[in-house]
Parts: sequence; structure tokens; C-alpha cells
Amino acid sequence: MTTVILKPHKEESLLRFHPWVFSGAIARVVLDAKHKGDAPEEGELVSVFSSANTPLGVGHWQVGSIAVRILAFGVESLPADFWHSRIHAAYKVRESLGLVRKDNNTFRLVHGEGDNLPGLIVDIYADTAVVQAHSVGMHVCRKEIADAILETVPQVKNIYYKSDDTLPFKAPIEGDKIGYLISDYQFPAPLGEGQEGADEFWSIENGLSFRIDWLQGQKTGFFIDQRENRALVERYAKDKDVLNMFCYTGGFSLYALRGGAKTVDSVDVSQKAIDLVNINVAKNFPKAKNHTAVAADAFEYLSAQKSAGKTYDLIILDPPAFAKHRDAVKNALRGYQRINAKAIEMIRPGGILFTFSCSQAVDKEAFRLAVFSAAAQVGRSVRILHQLHQPQDHPINIYHPEGEYLKGLVLYVE
Ligand code: SAH
Repeated sequence: MTTVILKPHKEESLLRFHPWVFSGAIARVVLDAKHKGDAPEEGELVSVFSSANTPLGVGHWQVGSIAVRILAFGVESLPADFWHSRIHAAYKVRESLGLVRKDNNTFRLVHGEGDNLPGLIVDIYADTAVVQAHSVGMHVCRKEIADAILETVPQVKNIYYKSDDTLPFKAPIEGDKIGYLISDYQFPAPLGEGQEGADEFWSIENGLSFRIDWLQGQKTGFFIDQRENRALVERYAKDKDVLNMFCYTGGFSLYALRGGAKTVDSVDVSQKAIDLVNINVAKNFPKAKNHTAVAADAFEYLSAQKSAGKTYDLIILDPPAFAKHRDAVKNALRGYQRINAKAIEMIRPGGILFTFSCSQAVDKEAFRLAVFSAAAQVGRSVRILHQLHQPQDHPINIYHPEGEYLKGLVLYVE
């Protein structure tokens, strides 16, 4: 195996189990005999040693500032059952957290560094696992990963691979970035227009049924990361007029309806998402007459509603990441302030705002300041009732705090 030798004292973060080796920490690379070029191949397994020749771990080589993502610490090679044992450990955690139940077959099985599998995401939707690689190393191992999932998770019969948007842009990639790795569905695939089986597929979250379109939907098809926060909305929804802004396929809306909301308005710019909201509401609440779904831009919708004198008791704001990179943070904060100001203005006295940011680059304090500025801008007094975050199946590796991304505030608006 190719070995990577670090500069003196650069082993310290690895000894503290931080899973990344930065390129600046590397003294030299010794290529194994099979190499023709003069550098490791992206995605290749490499063994990392300290300057004093202590084995520090094995990981995937990457091109860029993060040169190695460590898979196993303190070893010189990966054990033969590595994939199986890691996936099995991840599944056991979900089971012990009570997420694998008859009325809940929707959960995140693998959350990258949080499950000691840097660069890998696996979401489970009923009988289907959606696997997403964020590194070439994980892409190379996708078939072993799929086999380990199939062996470990009894409910899974199909494994769909979806990495067309997540693999490093310039990396040389062999094989398909998208498609079924394992499927017992009859082709064509089960979801989408005119495709067989589309009407039968439901994934269940806390007893609510969702149609999930992993083929054409956003990310892996669904935002499992809001499950616990949706349950909190259910607790506050009784007799309220609710606006679910950036609703995607209506997660928060279904919980609000089950919680006894007087009315629920769901808004998203994507018509496809709105179509799925209507399908999901019809499935769970076939008699509901108090739900409307509108395809519209958030800023335009809020301005138009405000001009029409509309107000709400409870508003949920769950926008897409406004800052995808550090250099976009300033603009993102302005965006958060603007959208929150517009929402706070429309909340009746004594109403509640659930507001979120999923931008990893925007930290808790900065987000809170943006929301505070929004309240001050529109002259409303607010109190923080809850501070929310990502749920238990999106764990944060304590040695890798960069894994924290979702934050939310529940505000009481006077
Ligand atoms: N709350 C959702 C997830 C929201 S993801 C859930 O629980 O599942 C963010 C959503 O914002 C996406 O569905 C995207 O289509 C939508 N979106 C992006 N820009 C928008 C805009 N300008 N106006 C309204 N919706 C927008």
C-alpha cells in the first residue's frame, strides 16, 4: 500500500481522532510498486505514519487541501470485514435510538464523519437505501458498501446510488455516478411519471406516509434531518393558522395537520415538490379541506400576502443553504435577515416562528444574530423558546465539529 509520512508534530490531530489529513501536514509519499505516475490516485487507500514511523491509520487519498480522509485509526491496513462492521455498527445505533419501527422506516443510516465513514451518506426509505458518495474513495467502494447494507438492514431490498452532484468535480471517475446498485424492482424504476409501482411506494416517518422521489428529488430525495423538529411543530400546531415556507414535499405540513392546525399553507418554488405535497396530504388526510399548496418564490409570496393583510399564528422557514461556501457567508446572513424579517412581520401577537439554517458555513451565533437583527428591524419583541439542531441519526463526531450544520430557533413573537 502507498504510505504517507507526516511532518514532525503533525500527527497530533490524528491521535485525537480528527479524521482529516491536510496536504500541508505531509512530509513525503512513498508510492507502492504498482504505480506508474508520481502521485497516489484519487480514491486509493493509503496508510499514514508519523515522522517517527508510528502507524496512525488508513484512509482514502484525495486531491485538494484535505489529502486523506481516515477510515480506521491506529492500523496499517483495513480489516477484511471493515465495511460490514461499520455499517452494522451504524445500524445498531439507529435501532438502539428507537428509529427502526413499524411506524418509522425512514432514517439516515450513515452520516459521514459522524458514523466514522467520512464521505459517505446512506438514507433508508422503507425498502430502499439511497447511497451518496462525497469522495472518490467511497465511490470506488460503492459495491462493497451496497453489499454490506443489504446484509445488515433487513428492510432493504433496493439500493440506489446518487452521487452525480456530490463527487469532486474534477476527479477522474470510473463507472456510473448514478443508478441502481441492487434492485428487485422491475425496471423501469418505481417512481416518477408513468413508472410502474409509483403508486405503491410509501416511506413512513413517525406514522406519516411520504412519497419519496430519489430519482428526481433534491439531495437523496427527502430531508430526514428535520424529523424531530417536525414533531415539535405538531405539538404547537393546534388551532393555528400555519405557513410552511420552503415546504419541499410537505414534511412540516403533515405534522401540523396531525397536530390539529386550523389551516396549513405550504409554499415552495418547485412545482414538482408541490405536486408531492398534495399527494402526501391526500394519502394521510384524505378528507382535509384546510390545506393549500402553492408554487411560488418565498420573497414574492410573503410580500404579496403582506399586501393582502394576511397574518399567521405559526410560520416555518426552512430555506435551502444560503451559503454553500465560507466566502458566501456575508450575503447569506443578509438573506437570513431579510426572509426572517418578512416572516416575523406576518406573525400575529403571541405567534410562533420556527426558523432554520442548514448552511454549515453559518454558525449558530451568526444565525442567531441575523434573526435578532430581523426582529429588531421590524420592531417586534421576540423570545427564544427552543434552540434546535440536527437529529440523532445525523450525529456529530466530537473530533470533527465541522459536521454540525443544521440549527434552528423557535421564537415567541409578542
Ligand atoms: N422543509 C423541507 C425541506 C426544505 S429544503 C422538509 O421538511 O422537507 C428547501 C426548499 O426550498 C426546497 O424544496 C426548494 O425547492 C425550496 N426553495 C428554494 N428557493 C426557494 C425560493 N426562492 N422560494 C421558495 N422555495 C424555495
